[in-house]
Amino acid sequence: MKKQKRKYSNLHYSLIGTLVILLTIWLFLPKITNFNKPTPELVELPESVKESIKKIKPQKSFRVPILMYHYVEYVKDEGDTIRKSLNIVPFIFDQQVKTLKDAGFSFITAADLADALDNKASIDPKSVILTFDDGYRDFYTDVFPILKKYQVKAVVYIVPNFLDRSNNLTSWQLKEIAQSGLVEIGAHTMDHTYLSGLPLERVEYEVKQSKKYFESNFGIKVVSFAYPYGAFDNQIIDVVKRAGFKSAVTAIPGIFALDVNRFFLYRVRPGGKAGEALLELFR
Ligand SMILES: [Zn+2]
Repeated sequence: MKKQKRKYSNLHYSLIGTLVILLTIWLFLPKITNFNKPTPELVELPESVKESIKKIKPQKSFRVPILMYHYVEYVKDEGDTIRKSLNIVPFIFDQQVKTLKDAGFSFITAADLADALDNKASIDPKSVILTFDDGYRDFYTDVFPILKKYQVKAVVYIVPNFLDRSNNLTSWQLKEIAQSGLVEIGAHTMDHTYLSGLPLERVEYEVKQSKKYFESNFGIKVVSFAYPYGAFDNQIIDVVKRAGFKSAVTAIPGIFALDVNRFFLYRVRPGGKAGEALLELFR
């Protein structure tokens, strides 16, 4: 009798053990896979999303190029090919801002665009949005001084759990940036997670918590979102809407911003283009 009881508890232990392992894998698998291989970006509208907007007629439409940046710096490690491929040197970025300014563009934020889509504010018909993903340290050291030099606005989409890492913005830098009045802080999930295909609870956590994080720790209102790797679907759009965001950007190429696609706004990759070659991208 005693022996049988002991057997039962062993079985219990191994069941609990298995459950703990499965739960750990579920929680950390996205992080592990993100870390080990570069996830390809989603650059086309998912079929299901295309289908769901087929019959909706846009009521409002703006021709606002949203420029997409990652690193802007002089890459020190010549062997870091991923970084180099995503990078634009600060001199070129300076020239791009100058080109846009000289061409008469107004620099607005994603929040400004959302207000215009909501008829709460008007925007200059010749507007542009500069967006920076992930919150790298060079945003403070290289981008921010150029924004201040030209007095132009930009949006930075930050991953809270990346803050204070050696390559990323510190909380103090972010505070200074947020208080400058030039930069809108947007959210980019808690862990830079590929959201498509994840359980709903995990998507909700990543989306809602990243908004709450900045609002409670930095006292700022966060209304703009960027999908990591540009990955989204109808269910994820719904979570982003319900969380109280007013817009979301993707990695899909395009220029028009419509009320219909405000939760999957398209963006332009400026690359190393400046002058006429940059303006040519908007035509
Ligand atoms: Zn990102």
